[in-house]
Amino acid sequence: MAVPKRRTPPAKQGQRRSHHHVVAAQIARCPQCRSPRVNHRICPVCGSYKGRQVLGSSDSR
Ligand SMILES: [Zn+2]
Repeated sequence: MAVPKRRTPPAKQGQRRSHHHVVAAQIARCPQCRSPRVNHRICPVCGSYKGRQVLGSSDSR
């Protein structure tokens, strides 16, 4: 098994962890009902995605 040759200095550890932050989710308006919606997610209000009904109505396929 591979074993680290040297311990990681605190500065290097901090440089690596500088990318470990949480970013806020992108919010956009739903094109159907204009309510705020997370990008790349089905709209929770009208249940549409990419201009077609995904949730709710059973007639659309
Ligand atoms: Zn919607």
